[in-house]
Amino acid sequence: MATPMSPDAIRRAPKVLLHDHLDGGLRPQTVIELADTIGYRDLPTTDPAQLGTWFRDAADSGSLERYLETFAHTCGVMQSEQALVRVAAEAAEDLAADGVVYAEVRYAPELFEPSGLSLEQVVQAVQEGFRLGERRAAEAGRTIRVGTLLCAMRQNEGWLRIAELAVRYRDEGVVGFDIAGPEAGFPPTRGRDTFEYLRQQNAHFTIHAGEAFGLPSIWEAVQHCGAARLGHGVRIVDDVKVDPDGSVHIGRLAGFVRDRRIPLEMCPSSNVQTGAAKSIAEHPIGLLTKLRFRVTVNTDNRLMSGCSMSSEFAALVDAFGYGWSELQWFTVNAMKSAFIGFDERLALINDVIKPGYAALMD
Ligand SMILES: [Zn+2]
Repeated sequence: MATPMSPDAIRRAPKVLLHDHLDGGLRPQTVIELADTIGYRDLPTTDPAQLGTWFRDAADSGSLERYLETFAHTCGVMQSEQALVRVAAEAAEDLAADGVVYAEVRYAPELFEPSGLSLEQVVQAVQEGFRLGERRAAEAGRTIRVGTLLCAMRQNEGWLRIAELAVRYRDEGVVGFDIAGPEAGFPPTRGRDTFEYLRQQNAHFTIHAGEAFGLPSIWEAVQHCGAARLGHGVRIVDDVKVDPDGSVHIGRLAGFVRDRRIPLEMCPSSNVQTGAAKSIAEHPIGLLTKLRFRVTVNTDNRLMSGCSMSSEFAALVDAFGYGWSELQWFTVNAMKSAFIGFDERLALINDVIKPGYAALMD
């Protein structure tokens, strides 16, 4: 008989996470301790529970200003080598404790230049933190592997230097590149040279597209830039029409994304907070899953959304009645779409993910 889908059983199930921001996943307690260490005085409260609530409320508020303020605080307290190591280590440990077996965690190194560290020092500190977190997780009996994605900020210049940084560190755990930040007004085609460079280097990249902006953003990311995956990609649903009688018409762009199995890094809770979806139950992930797009489930910002991979899975189980087989499908989709090598992906699917779900479905 299948194991009931309790929160604890969902936490034990092996999970794969492709879209998680390092500066969006700090523990509230850590924010407070780091602020104290570096003399950062701008936090709204120094009570961990209240601070956690404050982050979620600010992200929920619908105000972009308040939402951006949350990242000003997390980045503000991460402006040292020790802070970067600690935050990265805790991210790996927290994800492992949540049953994540493989994660790609992203951040923009340029946001930590105010610390006086070079971009290289920032990358090395974060890598050291992930390795430390993986070792601590292993000591606690959990195996996790963390790959890194380096982001350039869309509104800033200098995407190419971040892409070069990603390529320079690709044998040390940096598995890809992304652009983050405001989507409207900063289309990916602003950085054609960056994506051209990455393709010539045989490097992997994803692009945040189709979250705050619609189909043109997705089209540019895929057809002009050559994105291997789409960060969110929620608005691809604008190219899918469902008639009152239930018949479905898939447009050219959505058809291309589906036919080519271009992964959608969907982040249900975050999408509801930013208004990209009205509620989890009305999130396009339901339709896109039914139509067998290459859907993956992700956290985006665990602190601001107060979520984890387990809670995102549990919310989808509640909203759409998914069972273990759907959760396995999301997980295998994510593993197939990861930026590590084919052999490693296959090994995780066959040796970890499938046996893990088989045990739950028995
Ligand atoms: Zn994101």
